[in-house]
Amino acid sequence: MKYLSCRYIEHGMDFEHTRLETCCFTCHSGGGKITLKKEYAGEPIDWEKLFELKRKYRIEHRNGNLMPNCVGCVFLEEKEWDEEDYINFLQFNYWVACNSKCSYCYEVQNKKMFEKIKPYDSVPVVKEMIEKKILRPGGEVSFGGGEPTIAPEFEALINLLTENGFQNMRIHSSGIKFSPAIEQAIRRGVLNVVISIDSGCEKTYKKIKNVNAYKKVLENMAKYATANKNGYGLMTSKYIIIPNVNDNRKEIDMWIDSVRNVGGRWLALDIEDVWYKVNRATISSYYLDLVNYVIDKANAFDMKIELYDRARGLKEGKNQL
Ligand code: SF4
Ligand code: SF4
Repeated sequence: MKYLSCRYIEHGMDFEHTRLETCCFTCHSGGGKITLKKEYAGEPIDWEKLFELKRKYRIEHRNGNLMPNCVGCVFLEEKEWDEEDYINFLQFNYWVACNSKCSYCYEVQNKKMFEKIKPYDSVPVVKEMIEKKILRPGGEVSFGGGEPTIAPEFEALINLLTENGFQNMRIHSSGIKFSPAIEQAIRRGVLNVVISIDSGCEKTYKKIKNVNAYKKVLENMAKYATANKNGYGLMTSKYIIIPNVNDNRKEIDMWIDSVRNVGGRWLALDIEDVWYKVNRATISSYYLDLVNYVIDKANAFDMKIELYDRARGLKEGKNQL
């Protein structure tokens, strides 16, 4: 039976700092944050209980009762969904520590609150998920943060997933620390590292990131781009449009030139989260024009471009939903 749902309600799980959720997407009007476990810090999971809850959500969607927190989400789609209990869209967002200090970062803005959160290690539970075939390849495993590459368990986690046949991993990294496991997985064609540099020059980078690492990030982007093979393995350079900071064509031109210079061919575009949420109903056509400008430039240079959910929402006219 066809019904409106999404891959994260059906088969998704997200490790958050202190909770388990279905996904990490929050920029649509419903606001996301659909709970799978209210408190979580790395302990073993009662899978029967977790899937019982997921089945409840699924039944609501199948009955046409869209979860209020999902309203307006760009990931909703109408199709036939299978009824099995498994996870194949797994997200890791539980790391707090980071080597960047991005001006738009929720964690930087709420530093005191995040400092109190104790880190945990997800490797034992991921091993269990693989052994019990709860976690299956075929979807996407994605990593956000904090900064994943500085977590002590990060390299082991990537190698565990790579060795167990996961061929579609996505890491969101500041790009400041080089990761041999990322490079190796890119070489194998199973991983996309997304580096949000958000700028086309050192001055703007410093203004946004509050660290001196522009050259280091370009160096690492070049190393990852060189490891790129045909297939999934790749390096994506991401640009978050931040109003009144980098929202101009000159900076975007410099950004795209710098990506081409390091041998990158994949771009991603997004819009700053807090500004987007506050202004979603009144965003001027200037920003849609800017999104289209990036798409046109990418096409002109035969580069691939991916729109992240806010940019995609704007492009698809869903920002006001
Ligand atoms: S519809 Fe959106 S908010 Fe709801 S579970 Fe799916 S991705 Fe998350
Ligand atoms: S790289 Fe990510 S986690 Fe680190 S400060 Fe920037 S937005 Fe925050």
